[in-house]
Amino acid sequence: MVDPQTRFEELVAKLREQKYRLTPQRIALLRLLAASDGHPSASQLYEQMNDQFPTTSLATVYKTLNVLKEIDEVLELGFSGDDNRYDGNKPYPHSHLICIRCRKIMDSEVSIAQDLVPQVAQQSGYQIISHRLDFYGVCPGCREGE
Ligand SMILES: [Zn+2]
Ligand SMILES: [Zn+2]
Repeated sequence: MVDPQTRFEELVAKLREQKYRLTPQRIALLRLLAASDGHPSASQLYEQMNDQFPTTSLATVYKTLNVLKEIDEVLELGFSGDDNRYDGNKPYPHSHLICIRCRKIMDSEVSIAQDLVPQVAQQSGYQIISHRLDFYGVCPGCREGE
């Protein structure tokens, strides 16, 4: 995980460059995104925001996420039949571990996918722009309860 404070400052600087207006609510949201290693959904972010800013709407959360998506500063993970989840700490493609019980999503510290990119490009003739590699399993927390 990238240092949350460094990443937070990076996000603020990127949005300032875009002339994006940084309200206290948006700043709080950027702080959450920079520090979250659990890949929250928009509604989870909205709930976390609500303690501090009860007037925040889900639309505000989506709007900020969309702006970040446009400038490639958040990684969006889409799932069929489940909410999209977001990684604002590491916006570039990386592999994930997904718990099938509690739906927790962690970053895998093993960079298999990155090492495969040149091989796949060479073999297929594709210019690779992105990739996605998810590992499904049962997390240590859930295994303990077995
Ligand atoms: Zn779990
Ligand atoms: Zn991630």
